[in-house]
Amino acid sequence: MAVTTGSDRARATLAFLRRKITTGEWPVGSRIPIEPELAEQTGVGRSTVREAVRSLASIGMIETLPGRGTFVRSAAPTSTLLNEFLTDFTLEEILSYRRALEVEAAQQAAMHRTDEDLAALERAATEEIGCTRCPVLGFAGGEDSAFDSKFHRLIFDSAKNRLLAALYAGINDRLRTPEHRGRLANVATGAEMERDHARVLDAIRRRDFIDAVHAMVDHVDHDVVIVNDQHEVVPPLTRTPEQQQRIDTAREAQDKAQA
Ligand SMILES: [Zn+2]
Repeated sequence: MAVTTGSDRARATLAFLRRKITTGEWPVGSRIPIEPELAEQTGVGRSTVREAVRSLASIGMIETLPGRGTFVRSAAPTSTLLNEFLTDFTLEEILSYRRALEVEAAQQAAMHRTDEDLAALERAATEEIGCTRCPVLGFAGGEDSAFDSKFHRLIFDSAKNRLLAALYAGINDRLRTPEHRGRLANVATGAEMERDHARVLDAIRRRDFIDAVHAMVDHVDHDVVIVNDQHEVVPPLTRTPEQQQRIDTAREAQDKAQA
């Protein structure tokens, strides 16, 4: 390539890094190579690499965590506009909206998933077995681990609705900010997460959008919740014992059908 000027080099470097992410060579959640390695791969100086990394961070595709490295956050640029817009809303409002998106995505995924989507979802569900929590917002994050759950993200891919996916990415970014993150807890155990994901997956496999909605509602009710100052869980919905009984009965029927 005929790279001559500094700005050409910067553009080419940015394109190189972006392509690594959009092609999935660097999957979401993965750590990208360190600056000197990137400088070697691209044949440009470290300051040019740093500049490109900063550009990608500013559009939400990657994030640098001090002392841990730089991680891929999103395969598509997330809108800073959306992010700023969301700062006007409370955590309760944002979490409730996330719940609505998850449920709608599950429904759409059951209707629009392809065989490839299903295979990818099955792989992701298997990979996440053994996590201590649903890694949906990175709460289960270990060393290099993902910032979000591949399973949840793939449901949005399967839903084939770009707006849902873009809003979801924006909401998750907002929830991951330190001011919100401290008030959120992931209360479902690893075993509950596996059971919930299996149920959502099964409904999507059978293209049963009604079961998909119910299974996802069940899951989002206890995957990420708000805790108050006393570390008590603030339930997303309060239910009477009768309502809880109906939910339990429906859940048992589904478990039995699946067994
Ligand atoms: Zn989950």
